[in-house]
Amino acid sequence: MRSEVDPAAIPAPAREICAALRADGHGAWVVGGCVRDHLLGRAVSDWDLCTSARPERVMRLFPRTIPTGIAHGTVTVVRDHEHFEVTTLRGDGDYTDGRRPDAVRFLDDIDDDLARRDFTVNAIAYDPISGVLVDPHGGLDDLRRGLLRAVGDPSLRFGEDGLRVLRGARFTASLGFDLEPATEAAIPGALHVLRRVSPERVREEWLKALKAPAPSRAFAVMARTGILAVNIPALTAPSKDPAEWERSLRAVDACPPLATSRLAALLHTVEAPLLEAWLRMTKFSNDERATVMTLRRALPLGAPGGWSDAEVRRWLRKVGRGAAREVLDVAASLEDEDSLEGLRARVEAAIAAGVPLSVAELAIDGNAVMAALGMTPSRALGTLLSGLLERVLDDPSRNTPEALMELAREAHAPPR
Ligand code: ATP
Ligand code: MG
Repeated sequence: MRSEVDPAAIPAPAREICAALRADGHGAWVVGGCVRDHLLGRAVSDWDLCTSARPERVMRLFPRTIPTGIAHGTVTVVRDHEHFEVTTLRGDGDYTDGRRPDAVRFLDDIDDDLARRDFTVNAIAYDPISGVLVDPHGGLDDLRRGLLRAVGDPSLRFGEDGLRVLRGARFTASLGFDLEPATEAAIPGALHVLRRVSPERVREEWLKALKAPAPSRAFAVMARTGILAVNIPALTAPSKDPAEWERSLRAVDACPPLATSRLAALLHTVEAPLLEAWLRMTKFSNDERATVMTLRRALPLGAPGGWSDAEVRRWLRKVGRGAAREVLDVAASLEDEDSLEGLRARVEAAIAAGVPLSVAELAIDGNAVMAALGMTPSRALGTLLSGLLERVLDDPSRNTPEALMELAREAHAPPR
């Protein structure tokens, strides 16, 4: 970790924006998550700025701006095709909806702005012109110690905005930090405000947690503080079956780092219809939902070692070649790897052997069958072709034009 900000790391346009604000008589800083990530030596994607200048002044000072969130004091300044959010220092009015302050008060003092932020490590500002770091809540010390500590009284802060407890849990995974004990202890008392957080925001935090190197850190916190039960009531309480929950946590870390795979592993105990309803309600995209459900439904848990070759091929047909490897990766994170290695090899062998998985992939086509048997496109033809696919899944050596035509004739004119 760095003990100070490296001025050269701040993009030139961000520094120029701060310089222009200072020249106009205002204070200007880089602030929040970007300073935190920079000090941790992590890549910074967005450098957020804050200033004592009012939003109208910011808009007049720079030629290209976008009034992104003007009511909350945020103006986007465009420089060299890069976008920088510049937010006027603010304090929050009362929170009555558990999510957004009723009113925003613009302020002149950076310390007052930092006081409304959630965790001390997110409440550090840096003035790139004077080189002064503003850290009134001991954020640098907490960064060093790997601690997430609420700014001020954790119960009050969590009570204002229900998103904060979820962010706290998520940061334990994305930063690999621990919640400071008093901060964690305040979470259960704030769950009623978490209930008011929109599903979109819940999804966003879950996706950020799932991207972390070890997502289980966040979900373990969520389980023991009660966040999980609020976010997903359909999941059996971890305390009811701790061993199964431990298995889910191990699996979410062992899974390949795809959010959909990791969700399927973490939530493999949730019954499929409940899981689907939850994904819909939590506003996961149609693609995300379809992928998780394919994975969830196709997980070969139990005793795939005992499957016949035909069962392996039918499983592959159901899952599809594209998803098969992903499903096996998720399953491997849940089962012991040995029991799945055999299945993995057999699936790969079936794919390599070119086993047809649909009627369209049979070695004979519908037109040839119609011509030979004098049939027309009809449901009977569809049934006949599906029957042929089943026979091939039982025994792939039947997948030749001659053998299939023979089987088709038999099926069409059964012996009397
Ligand atoms: P991420 O790594 O997800 O970007 P972040 O901390 O940068 O994390 P942002 O949403 O980009 O999160 O917010 C920027 C800053 O705004 C935070 O670092 C924090 O200072 C403040 N902030 C964001 N959300 C809240 C909140 N719900 N309550 C208080 N302060 C917040
Ligand atoms: Mg950020």
